[in-house]
Amino acid sequence: MEVNLASADTENIRDEMLRRRTFAIISHPDAGKTTLTEKLLLFGGAIQLAGTVKARKSARHATSDWMAIEKARGISVASSVMQFVYGEHVINLLDTPGHQDFSEDTYRVLTAVDSALMVIDSGNGVEAQTIKLLEVCRLRDTPIITFMNKFDRESRDPMELLDEVESVLGIQCAPITWPIGMGKRFRGVYHLLRDEVLVFAPGQESREQEFERIQGIDHPELLRRFPDEMAELAEQVELVRGASHPFDLQAFLAGRQTPVFFGSAINNFGVRELLAALIDWAPPPQPREASGRMVEPAENAFSGFVFKIQANMDPQHRDRVAFLRVCSGHFTRGMRIRHLRLGRDIQVHNPITFLAQERELVEEAYAGDIIGLHNHGSIQIGDSFSQGEALQFTGIPYFAPELFRRVRLKNPLKAKQLQKGLQQLAEEGATQVFRRLQGGDPILGAVGSLQFDVVAERLRGEYAVEAVFEPVTVQTARWIEAEDDKTLADFTRKHEEQLAEDAGGRLAYLAPSRVNLDLTMERWPKVRFHATREHA
Ligand code: GDP
Repeated sequence: MEVNLASADTENIRDEMLRRRTFAIISHPDAGKTTLTEKLLLFGGAIQLAGTVKARKSARHATSDWMAIEKARGISVASSVMQFVYGEHVINLLDTPGHQDFSEDTYRVLTAVDSALMVIDSGNGVEAQTIKLLEVCRLRDTPIITFMNKFDRESRDPMELLDEVESVLGIQCAPITWPIGMGKRFRGVYHLLRDEVLVFAPGQESREQEFERIQGIDHPELLRRFPDEMAELAEQVELVRGASHPFDLQAFLAGRQTPVFFGSAINNFGVRELLAALIDWAPPPQPREASGRMVEPAENAFSGFVFKIQANMDPQHRDRVAFLRVCSGHFTRGMRIRHLRLGRDIQVHNPITFLAQERELVEEAYAGDIIGLHNHGSIQIGDSFSQGEALQFTGIPYFAPELFRRVRLKNPLKAKQLQKGLQQLAEEGATQVFRRLQGGDPILGAVGSLQFDVVAERLRGEYAVEAVFEPVTVQTARWIEAEDDKTLADFTRKHEEQLAEDAGGRLAYLAPSRVNLDLTMERWPKVRFHATREHA
């Protein structure tokens, strides 16, 4: 009998792709992202005990020099990738650093996911960082699942929380579960679609466990155990069903509506429901836009793009790792792939996978997976790889920095090293570097001020350069394009003082103030001022 190998492979690629979910958790610091991550990994059987994520994080801190900054501030600068298996599914969880001082990395990680889980501290409601991160998800209409965390503590009124998400974040809420009481009187959640009560039991910190389920909102057992709370719940549910939106899968997938769950991450309560939503509703790997055409995840040929570069993940290997999101096809170890920007084939002998934070060699990968490529300087953020076809993936942005510093060398003889160091750090996406057309010291741009500390530390450690960072009167930057060459030449002549080139040679306008930017934009209608720009 003849076997059609090609179509068997096609089918396999499709099945493997369909069982993948790639997502990130977005939240304001302290909302419970780390705690929830631990619980999710627990379900996947990836770790035995809660607390491991943190413990391993700090072990890594202790062995790495520049990451000492992280340790000192008790935060995670470097985001990472965790892969685990849950039932039939392969889950890729991408960590986004959540500190106030977060960096552009945080933003770009969100370009590599197909959905996001938004965690809200129910005592605080929608907070600043969540707003920023959600704006980034908006750029690609990423579907969002919402978790209202910490209901084991006194929280805001649940209806008020939904209102706040709708009005502040501008996304419709569809409650899937509803809390029964809160704080000391937290009894559990009622599943609005399944008409089932999940009974809360506190203190289940470190084990995967089953919570008691009771079918039917008017079950006599519930009325007997929680007479007051159940009466209140019946009233609320009627109100909720009347006033809120029913869940609409299409609206969720289009990023217009978010299903909302209530629970308590630390008690592992409500976490299984989140996983179910992720598996049942969140999309598998999505088609990706490349120059010229859309790339479908089930295509046979491998393709992917680099969204992040991380240095010194393992101090034993002083290398840099490029994180590549697979967009299509089937990757196998030892495969030859084309580095499109350089127009060169590379053979990938030792790609890294991220099995719940252990670095291991990857044997194969499919759309949705993240693989790590060893990088000795030839890979930049935004680089695309394929099996030959010229596919430059789009939508991996640089964001206009909000903070600026002038870099002054302590020892002028080190100018060459400084230049090299800044160029590499810029290619990694650690910071942005601008050089004024009129010359002078380079100017660094960042989204979070911690980026400057990281750059200073790394210049010292890796390039032996001591530099001083000084304030500079730049408030914001915009990348410049003009409708025609003459306009560009006129604009350049008039505003040479404010113009600079970034590390990729793109022209940028460094505005001393917002007012100045607004006025300049008004005066030059034929010039386009971009707040983001594409990589590569
Ligand atoms: P992250 O900064 O978002 O990663 O937040 P963490 O996961 O580190 O949690 C911040 C704090 O909130 C920690 O002290 C957690 O123990 C606590 N926390 C997390 N989830 C819950 C919860 O469900 N209930 C309560 N009461 N505390 C929680």
